[in-house]
Amino acid sequence: MKAAVVTGFDRPLELQDRPVPEPGPGQVLVRLEASGLCHTDIHAAHGDWPVKPTPPFVPGHEGVGVVTALGEGVAHRAIGDRVAIAWLGHACGRCGYCVSGWETLCEEQRNSGYSVDGAFAEYAVADADYVVPVPDEVSSFDAAPLTCAGVTTYKAIKVAHVTPGERVAVFGIGGLGHLAVQYARLVGAEVIAVDLTDEKLELARELGADHTVNAATTDPVQAIADLGGADVAVALAVTPKAFEQAFASLRRGGRLVCVALPPESDGPMHLPIFRTVLFGISVIGSIVGTREDLAEVFRLHALGRTRVVAESRKLEEVNESIDDVLHARTSARLVFEL
Ligand code: NAD
Ligand code: ZN
Ligand code: ZN
Repeated sequence: MKAAVVTGFDRPLELQDRPVPEPGPGQVLVRLEASGLCHTDIHAAHGDWPVKPTPPFVPGHEGVGVVTALGEGVAHRAIGDRVAIAWLGHACGRCGYCVSGWETLCEEQRNSGYSVDGAFAEYAVADADYVVPVPDEVSSFDAAPLTCAGVTTYKAIKVAHVTPGERVAVFGIGGLGHLAVQYARLVGAEVIAVDLTDEKLELARELGADHTVNAATTDPVQAIADLGGADVAVALAVTPKAFEQAFASLRRGGRLVCVALPPESDGPMHLPIFRTVLFGISVIGSIVGTREDLAEVFRLHALGRTRVVAESRKLEEVNESIDDVLHARTSARLVFEL
């Protein structure tokens, strides 16, 4: 089978011919149809974060396809089921986090395309308990970006407890941001989209943003203050500066939701203690979403409540595709069709 493999953090991905993996006990084999390129895959390929994957490995955690073989003991999935392989590839299922609805914090979790081989390939094995069924109404092409970009921003809006009429500023209208705008709208927020290019802002408007700010030409903090300040700011742009601007755009009682994960070498974000305290600001870290969150995301899409904006690419174009994401030359998401 074809697979795009990271062989070193300073090298382009290599397209390799690999044997189709065998599903072990409790696993399924998935013939992938669509596989989204998340910015996290780029961080993985470059070894950007404090905890690094070990090359060689196959990235990809927005994988959608059809189950073609069952490992020993798998009774609750069937050959022919269409499923999604998300970042949360496995969790223990027993710890306090797992049993209280926070499986995404499990200390024993394994992550697809990071600590185990992922979906930039024609086939992948996955834990049968952690793949998520895709409803018939949702195409594999749409399901792919929903599997990480969708569930992550859906959860970010949930943990911020946005209520109708609140003002939500979304910093970064990329793969994640174009869906964040829609989930914020779904819960009744007034939405401000912030990015560096007019194309992204135009897209945000089409998807329901009420206001847009081009941070390349306008100070987003002042522009948002002029609108009355944000109740919630979601940081999706891959630079600490955007986190600091997102924080500074909050009004009293505001919540900063930290989602993007800039390279460690970009340094920390700096937040003023005085303003945090006097304004009663909450700073919330938010990591992907649970299997149940993803099922909800699929259901909303099946109901026609969200729109996925993505372009189709071939796996052979993986390195050019990474370059396009890094230079924000994509409409929103790139999806490899396999
Ligand atoms: P992306 O590259 O598709 O989108 C980033 C967007 O930010 C682009 O549109 C870009 O133009 C914009 N941008 C860049 N600098 C900006 C600035 N200063 N102000 C405003 N906008 C700016 O990336 P993505 O796939 O949406 O992922 C975003 C980040 O989220 C990545 O760091 C990724 O690793 C992380 N991520 C986190 C989680 C999580 O669970 N916390 C899940 C998925 C992805
Ligand atoms: Zn992702
Ligand atoms: Zn656990």
